[in-house]
Amino acid sequence: MSLSILLNGARGRMGRAVSTAAGELGLRIGAAVDVGDNPAPGIGACDVIIDFSTPAATPALLRLAVKHRKPIVIGTTGHTAAEKRRLLPLAARIPCVWAGNFSVGVNLLFHLTRQAAHILDANYDAELIEMHHRFKKDAPSGTAARLLEIILKERRLTSAALRHGRKGITGERSPREVGIHSLRGGDVVGDHTVIFAALGERLELVHKASDRAIFARGALRAAQWIVAQPPGVYDMQDVLGLKD
Ligand code: NAD
Repeated sequence: MSLSILLNGARGRMGRAVSTAAGELGLRIGAAVDVGDNPAPGIGACDVIIDFSTPAATPALLRLAVKHRKPIVIGTTGHTAAEKRRLLPLAARIPCVWAGNFSVGVNLLFHLTRQAAHILDANYDAELIEMHHRFKKDAPSGTAARLLEIILKERRLTSAALRHGRKGITGERSPREVGIHSLRGGDVVGDHTVIFAALGERLELVHKASDRAIFARGALRAAQWIVAQPPGVYDMQDVLGLKD
């Protein structure tokens, strides 16, 4: 089946990558929408919505998707935890894939990080480093936020354990903390390194994205999958069958 897609954020870096990948896969961008455009006229004829825009655009787009009962793939990142909590009940009324990262490699990294955090006890200090291009607006990245959630859950810690940078912190590192460090510069598409460091050994799990096409292809794979699902909020682990 050739899907017709409403693409929100169509003129952005990801929007352009989705358009190119859709062409390669024989999928159709039925409506290309960006800031200043009204998505309402194009929504009736589309099979699925893909959103790579800005967090402020998500509430109105979700309300429109619910009104027209259209499945949606949300790739936009940078929502606060409170914003996401408020939006999830709305998203759950339609089939929705909401993922901070659509790359297959990163989703395997999520899986491996969960395993490592489970097997390696609190003697292994967990730290995360991420680097992205100079234009990125949110920090830490959505992918880093997901990796941190996974580590916190496995270690039964809350977000109070997170240390964003170390400025101002004195004294030794506590085993009940998780460090996160965001680097920004140049045209880096997305690097993530998860470190588990003990006395005597260190495990590093590294993923480097070099082309946005991986996210675009993943989002299109999610779009093809979500049109056949019942209402609910899914992530890329569901799409790829990687759920434990
Ligand atoms: P970008 O700034 O290049 O593009 C964003 C586009 O959204 C722009 O064209 C902008 O005009 C448009 N826009 C702004 N407000 C809008 C609105 N109200 N309605 C419609 N369009 C609007 O950014 P980008 O690099 O393409 O990234 C877009 C989003 O996707 C960011 O949140 C980024 O972090 C995220 N992202 C997610 C993944 C993933 O795999 N989930 C991968 C890469 C980027």
